[in-house]
Order: sequence, then C-alpha cells, then structure tokens
Amino acid sequence: MANNIREDIKNDYGIELSYGKVWRCQEKALSYVRGTLEASYQKLPSYLFMLQQKNPGMLTDFVTEEDRFKYCFFSLGVSRRGFRTCRPVLCVDDTFLKTKYGGQMLCAVALDANNHLYPVAFGIVDSENHDSWKYFMSELKEAIGEVEDLEFVSDRHASITHALETIFPDASHGACYHHISMNVVAKFKIDHYHVLMYNAAYAFRKSEFHANFEKIKSKDPAIAQYLEGMGFDKWSCAYFPGNRYNIMTSNYAESFNNKTRDARSFPITTFIEFIRFTLQSWFCDRRETSEKTTTTLAPTYEKILVDMAEKARFLIPYAIGRHEFHVLDGELNGEVDLLNKTCTCGVFQIIGIPCAHALSGSLK
Ligand SMILES: [Zn+2]
Repeated sequence: MANNIREDIKNDYGIELSYGKVWRCQEKALSYVRGTLEASYQKLPSYLFMLQQKNPGMLTDFVTEEDRFKYCFFSLGVSRRGFRTCRPVLCVDDTFLKTKYGGQMLCAVALDANNHLYPVAFGIVDSENHDSWKYFMSELKEAIGEVEDLEFVSDRHASITHALETIFPDASHGACYHHISMNVVAKFKIDHYHVLMYNAAYAFRKSEFHANFEKIKSKDPAIAQYLEGMGFDKWSCAYFPGNRYNIMTSNYAESFNNKTRDARSFPITTFIEFIRFTLQSWFCDRRETSEKTTTTLAPTYEKILVDMAEKARFLIPYAIGRHEFHVLDGELNGEVDLLNKTCTCGVFQIIGIPCAHALSGSLK
C-alpha cells in the first residue's frame, strides 16, 4: 500500500519520498482512523462491555494476567440463538493476528440451513496451546449450552483434542479430510491419491469405503497403514461414530479466517468491530432472503431434493413392511425404513434428507 501512496504523491505533486517516510505517514494516518494498538487493548474491556449491552444475548469474556491482556472471547447473541437451528457440527480452527503484539484468533463455525458459513464464537489468545484452547472451549460451552449429538471437525491439533476431551467429553471429534490429504502428500511425497482417498473418506456405505481403501492398500501399503493407524472413525464418513452430516473438512472455519485477512492487522477493537459488522451484514441479508423464500427447505437442499425425486422416478421399490422398502436401482440398491429415516445407502441418515430410494418408496 505504501508503494501506491508513494506513486500517487509523485504523480500528483512531483515529489519523491522514500518508502520509509511514506510508510511512517501511512501508519500515522491509520492510527488517527483506527486508534493505536496499545490504546485499543486498553479500551477492550469497556468495548466488550458496551458490545454486550447493545447486543441482547451476547456473551463476552476478558482475562488478564499481571495487568496484561491474556484472552478474550465473544459470541453474538444471534449466533448463539441461531446455532440451535443449525446442524450440531462445529468446525474449529485458528489463525494468526498480524500486529506487532502477535496473538491468535480461535473460532468455531457452523453451516446454516442453506450451507452458508455461520460463525458461532471467537477467541483472541496469546498462542495455540492447551490452556488457550481449553479457555476457548469452556467459554464456547457456556455460549451454546448443552447441544445434543454435538460434533467437532478440526485439524486435530493436540491442544484441540485435549481441550475437547476435557470440556466436551461426549462430543465426537472428526479429522479434517483436507488436512489429512495434505499430510499424506507431504509425508509420502505423492499427490495422486486424492481421488481414492476422497472416495473412501466421503463414502456413506462401509462397503464402498472398503472398496476404495483396498485400492489404496494394493497401490501403496505404507499409505494405507498410515491412514489405518489414524483410525477410520476419524476421517471416514462411513465409520464416524456420530453424524457429521458429510461435513468432512474444517475449511469452513478457514474460509472465515481468510475473510479477516486484512482486518487481522487492525488494532484489536477495530478487528472485533470488523467481525461484528461482517456478521451483522450477513445475517441481515440472509433474513431478507429467507423472508422471500417460498419453499419449505432452503434453496440448496430444495434443489438436492428435486434432483433426488427425479432419480427416484427410475427406481423400483418393493414393500417389505408397512414402512420398509427394498429399492432396486441397478447398482447397490437400498433398504429403506421410513419410520426411522434410514436407508442402507446412508444418505437419509447422514445428510438428513430422503435419498432417491426413500422417495421412490414413499411415492409408491
Ligand atoms: Zn438410499
């Protein structure tokens, strides 16, 4: 940015300034607009207090050590309320702040009914370690309360695993598929296993998972051993002990972090204000969109359901009970239980909407 300013001054006034001088002027001007880093940390407690006063249901927390800032946490009231209607899967991740004081932001992000990012909670901490993640998770627990069948997806950093085992002992913790595939590429110096690994990780049926895993095993036993050692339940949809609704990566949290790329160099209160403003704008736009939506489901899932219904026209269902069907599809077929909302293809129970087999059975 300083280079652009330098160029503009030269073009407009014919004056040549050194890069250093322009950079110092730029910093001075920005400090007039955003405040200084030091002043921002000083006013953080009162800023958080006012934020809580003006946002019903918002939860904030502030921790100091020897009179110095250590941690803070915030979760907007609308995020806390809205998460109750989202799938109970939270992607957690961290990212670095870019000021001279360092620090990291921890965040928990869900997906809303239309598969849009739904940020739930944020923490600003000194660094990613056992204590900071435990602090974040205990505040998160207060923010979201008891949530049935809660699941987490992360890069399974040791501190995240430790914090979840301590604070959310009943929640399942899945590994991010993207991180695992990156680890395999880095460890084994190969990059041609993506399709097989992807197919195995995202398979809903155990039989499909094993068909793909056997291919990996026969091509490279060392990679298969590495993946097996990690535990199928950590990275495979078919073996995951809870229901992660095929949310297989923590990239959603990373996506939000990327949106804060520039703001992470702002003074702390300006940075938090940026997040608040961003969420407020998103949620406002989505409310307007939802008010205009006439379908029962959100557009993303309405379209999936319509596509499934189209497929269902070509399937042949045979009733085997009052609510059970055996459905021929020319491939692996499906056994549907409409009462328990399950099908052997896995789509009904994992994604949570009827698969083509279930639709063909219910239309019979
Ligand atoms: Zn099915």
